[in-house]
Amino acid sequence: MGGMFIAAVEALFPGLCPHCEQPLPGGSRGLCGACWASLVPRVGSACPRCGVPADDSTEVCLECLRSAPPQRSTVVWGEHDGVLRTAVLSLKHHRRDDFAQPLGFRLAAAVAPASWEPSIDAVCSVPSHPFRRFRRPWAAADLLARSVGSRLDKPVVKLLRRHGLHRQAGHSRARRLELPCQSFSASPRARGLTILLIDDVTTTGSTVRRASEALVRAGAEAVHCAVLAHAPDSRRFS
Ligand SMILES: [Zn+2]
Ligand SMILES: [Zn+2]
Repeated sequence: MGGMFIAAVEALFPGLCPHCEQPLPGGSRGLCGACWASLVPRVGSACPRCGVPADDSTEVCLECLRSAPPQRSTVVWGEHDGVLRTAVLSLKHHRRDDFAQPLGFRLAAAVAPASWEPSIDAVCSVPSHPFRRFRRPWAAADLLARSVGSRLDKPVVKLLRRHGLHRQAGHSRARRLELPCQSFSASPRARGLTILLIDDVTTTGSTVRRASEALVRAGAEAVHCAVLAHAPDSRRFS
């Protein structure tokens, strides 16, 4: 189901679940109970450092062994598919900010058991592209970060700025990997902090990697990343 179709269902039938189109109980919005219940975290093991699916969750993947990413760990909640995809598209593109809290609480629940969770000093989001920000001042990742921060009882701070006019979606994987690493800059307030960095969707992991790099360059003590959804292919972003 395409993003445009979801938007049309939401606009024309506000009383229907945007995923399965079943009627919602009087006055309620968001997904129906059955769709919320079917929203489950990704199954299977993943590399604890970069979050990419791997055979073993206890050891870092070969890619990370070869070239260690700037972040200490990455939690990826689910696959950008089915109900989660509908919820993410609603939040990202259809101004459905009411999705941020339930999705952020789920991401927080995945972070809470991590051994490093107590060390987090601050939560910050990967800033959206300036072009996107122009259209929508509160990006999905900002809203998710606030929800995660409130659930984990950690301060949410703005530490990153995004530069450049490249757009990620639409570029090939190879092109995205070679985009300049200086496209984020971090505030000097990052110095000495252990930071939880939040993003909504990842494909190659290159965005959280570059954002983490900027925080480390600014003197962050450690960066841990939590991403709501993994999309195997950037065309599925929309
Ligand atoms: Zn539904
Ligand atoms: Zn890895």
